Amino acid sequence: MAKKRFSRNSLFSSDIGIDLGTANTLVYVRGRGIVIDEPSVVTLNEKTGQVVAVGKEAKVMLGKTPPHIRAVRPLSHGVISDFEVTEELLAYLINKAQGGHSRLLGPRVVIGVPTGVTNVESRAVRDAALTAGAREVYIMEEPMAGAIGAKLPVNEPVGTMVLDIGGGTTDIAVLSLGGAVSSKSSHVAGDRFNENIADFVRSEFQLAIGEKTAEETKIAIGSVIPLDEPLERAVRGRDLATGLPREIILTDVHVREALAPSLDSLMETMKEVIENTPPELLSDVLERGVTVFGGGALLRGLPELLAKMLGVPVHVAPDPLTAVVRGTGIVTEDPRPWAEVFMNEDAIVSER
Ligand code: ADP
Ligand code: MG
Repeated sequence: MAKKRFSRNSLFSSDIGIDLGTANTLVYVRGRGIVIDEPSVVTLNEKTGQVVAVGKEAKVMLGKTPPHIRAVRPLSHGVISDFEVTEELLAYLINKAQGGHSRLLGPRVVIGVPTGVTNVESRAVRDAALTAGAREVYIMEEPMAGAIGAKLPVNEPVGTMVLDIGGGTTDIAVLSLGGAVSSKSSHVAGDRFNENIADFVRSEFQLAIGEKTAEETKIAIGSVIPLDEPLERAVRGRDLATGLPREIILTDVHVREALAPSLDSLMETMKEVIENTPPELLSDVLERGVTVFGGGALLRGLPELLAKMLGVPVHVAPDPLTAVVRGTGIVTEDPRPWAEVFMNEDAIVSER
């Protein structure tokens, strides 16, 4: 009689890496790759307290909800503004990543969180993952995860400088031996760029445009250096004087002017991080350059501008929007070499 055999899969859930970004949440499942890539948005029914929608479905509702439905981006400022909603989001992601099957042994889950997250918040994230069925939970900061995803030598005694331009926060760090030697987090990031564009259009054209329109404009024609071929785009909004709809043509020159103060501010923050970096590590940075990831890395001309202003080589990580989740995915394979990078002291949590 043939021996009954259990495949490993029937007992163990596949391990999961999660990038809990301020704008986008991505999930990597070991052996399958990136299976979820959705906005970090949750909509709630205020009357019943229930979650109505998560991710893409919820983002569509932003700005369009009836009074009792509230759409929230629980991590939008790099801190967890709403624990319960973050827990719901995490539970949804973990369950969805497992395809609704619950196995005997829950998954190992590696979670990247924004740098501003406090110990209390990171513990809440860990607890939420455990409640959602995780067997082991490892929490790490997103710039570190992104550096791992970009295959940078973060565990070695060399200075590695990274710039993670997300939606709500930009994180700048010089990493060495598994830790951040000098770092800063700024709220000048993708959301701020969108606001800059909306403010510019309001003051220059007396036109009110929505956040979504501003973001689409940034992505379609945004550039931080002059272009050989000018870009332009028709943008619709509400005329501030008449209250009626009106259309204008925006060009890359307008967007550049709108973003200039934010770029100056980012440059200042980078300089501060550089000033706080010990000389030995700085010499590594000068030699190896800075690696940029996060959606902001895709802004036209950004690497060129930074290289010119800072006098160091600037590289964009391959597929910058997925660097962080790919880093968490690498860590799920074997967390042991990364012991230094976890935020939770009890990083090995095998309670069940
Ligand atoms: P987070 O990690 O904070 O969730 P992401 O790394 O996912 O953020 O980046 C989201 C930000 O990147 C958004 O502000 C989005 O507008 C911006 N973004 C995405 N694609 C582009 C692009 N091609 N050009 C400029 N900005 C972009
Ligand atoms: Mg991010």
